[in-house]
Amino acid sequence: MGEFLPVSRQEMRDRGWDGYDFLVVTADAYVDHPSFGTTIIARVLEAEGYRVAILSQPDWHSAAAFQRMGRPRWGAFIGGGNIDSMVAHYTAAKKRRSRDQYSPGGKMGLRPDRPTIVYANRCREAFPGLPVVIGGLEASLRRFAHYDYWDDKVRRSILFDAQADLMVYGMGERATREIAGRLAAGTPVEEITDVRGTAYAADSPAPCPFSKTTCASYEEVCADKRSYAQATKVEYDEHDPVRGRAILQRHGAKWLIVNPPSAPLSTKELDAVAELPYVREVHPMYDQDGGVPAIEEVRFSVTHNRGCFGGCNFCSLAFHQGRMITSRSHESCIREVTEMTHDPKFKGYIHDVGGPSANFRHPSCQEQLKRGMCKNRSCLAPTPCRNIDPDHSDYTKLLQELRAIPGVKKVFVRSGIRYDYLLAGRNDEFFRELVNHHISGQLKVAPEHCVAHVLDYMGKPHFDVFESFWDKYQTFNRKEGREQYLVPYLMSSHPGCTLSDAVELAEFLHSTGHQPEQVQDFYPTPGTLSTCMYYTGIDPRTMQPVYVATDPHDKALQRALLQWRKPEMRRLVVEALHKAGREDLIGYGPQCLIRPLHGGRSPAAEAGGGQRRDKGRRGASTPRQGEASPRQADTGRSGPNRGISDPRKRQGKPGTTDPRRGEAKDMPRGGIKAASSAQQPQKPLKRKKGWAKPKKRK
Ligand code: SF4
Repeated sequence: MGEFLPVSRQEMRDRGWDGYDFLVVTADAYVDHPSFGTTIIARVLEAEGYRVAILSQPDWHSAAAFQRMGRPRWGAFIGGGNIDSMVAHYTAAKKRRSRDQYSPGGKMGLRPDRPTIVYANRCREAFPGLPVVIGGLEASLRRFAHYDYWDDKVRRSILFDAQADLMVYGMGERATREIAGRLAAGTPVEEITDVRGTAYAADSPAPCPFSKTTCASYEEVCADKRSYAQATKVEYDEHDPVRGRAILQRHGAKWLIVNPPSAPLSTKELDAVAELPYVREVHPMYDQDGGVPAIEEVRFSVTHNRGCFGGCNFCSLAFHQGRMITSRSHESCIREVTEMTHDPKFKGYIHDVGGPSANFRHPSCQEQLKRGMCKNRSCLAPTPCRNIDPDHSDYTKLLQELRAIPGVKKVFVRSGIRYDYLLAGRNDEFFRELVNHHISGQLKVAPEHCVAHVLDYMGKPHFDVFESFWDKYQTFNRKEGREQYLVPYLMSSHPGCTLSDAVELAEFLHSTGHQPEQVQDFYPTPGTLSTCMYYTGIDPRTMQPVYVATDPHDKALQRALLQWRKPEMRRLVVEALHKAGREDLIGYGPQCLIRPLHGGRSPAAEAGGGQRRDKGRRGASTPRQGEASPRQADTGRSGPNRGISDPRKRQGKPGTTDPRRGEAKDMPRGGIKAASSAQQPQKPLKRKKGWAKPKKRK
């Protein structure tokens, strides 16, 4: 275990330094733990032999705080924190949060909105002529011109607002090493144009040495939503370390040049990064504030993998880490857990052995290592690719080895499990192990919705897959005499989800006797396919129109439906049911979600006794009589699409997309066609009870 990197001149003097090489600026509090991206970058630089100082959450109102430790010799690396600052500061309803998990004492206000931009500009002021390199999640997901939910407009690539010399995107260890080496060797920063996983601005495409393509310019994507969706498709398609090309995007007179992504780290390299001399603690300067809350989630957790081939469209991980999985060796994970057992705070419990998806240990197929990931095909959804390798034996063995370490009482898996991948396995060994040893009473899973076409827009498997998983989960628990439950993650207002779809999900939840405590309203974070759908009303995978609930009140109605029992939701629920033409669910019958607002005879009773009027409708794709179709419902609503040329008016209805269109060249290997709900009608849902632990009805 090492010591903290210096955060002041005094600490540099204590090390006998008369100066230092690189300043690493972070928008998070300084936590010296491998779960914090900026810490990893600082430790990687240190391991290369550089003197590195940390400046965490500096006062950004002037350049003074940046000058406190003097001018670094070679450059500054700036990170916006572990999560996008706007997500850290605001809820999906754009309300200011009250707590910042990545700041001392959970205090808000210790970093600005968009710190990458603010810090980079202050850095330039503080040290004119010093090379400034931005990186981290915030920069990575905003590397192209992008829709910004909080400004409700398309912003330029963050590189231009930050006026940085270089941007590192994705997982940045390789690029950071390369850049640092060149700067220390005296290469002018403007000549560093050939490093994978980096982006920069240029007067022409000439400096880019890679095979390249272009996407619509900043001006075009601002003016035309169709161009925006096409650009998003190019950005996703080329984000591949094997076959990806550089992407050029004009911003006025300048070119944004985004080089192809860096190759994922090998097992040996991941091990080395994970085992740098982290203190694994919060810096003591935060003791008086009670530490930094974010450490508690990760202090006794192991990140064993990187990358995700899950393909959830609302998640930005694949656009940051990539879809190819690499993982650490068993030996490295064992060493990390063994070290944890010597921590006085360790009580014997490993909280997680996970990553973006816990049960990914190896690439989804071998062919991708030569030819890259398939375009236009998710490895898992809506059905697993037939080339997928679903072997879980390595992960099972890893968990077995970790729980056998002396001092370890339990090893939990808290990161999301991809249940479709689990079910694709050739045997149930991992499933049994999971149920018997690695769940702390409740397993969190993310079916997200139950309606097939909504799941298609999300990039998730259909609900019958979740039901199969659920059946098996219950069977194994019963056999082992365990009382363990599922906690479902659900999402409202995802693009493609209409009010009727939300009613359908509410009915389903009602039939299980459980109401979720937490519902995630769809959050259009930068860089996801779903955000593109939200902004443009177009699915960039097919260029077909998609219904989007953008009006805050429409979103509130969808959300209320999923928490219909909460007293504060009553009015919204009643309004939503009226609006959806589902008055049959207002009344006193067992199917009813809610009683009439002022007592008296219910609309359901007046309509014939509170019975469902369309039994078996779940999974049907045609709108109810009198109910607005997604396209009709969209007409005249407020939101970002108002007054802008609406491509939906020129194209077919949602749900009639032909995913094969235009894919001939990109057919997944093995000739498997991309599936959709149109090809695979949703099976009727059968589950009526037994979701998570049923709550007593008041
Ligand atoms: S062949 Fe199948 S498993 Fe391999 S990358 Fe393509 S979709 Fe994924």
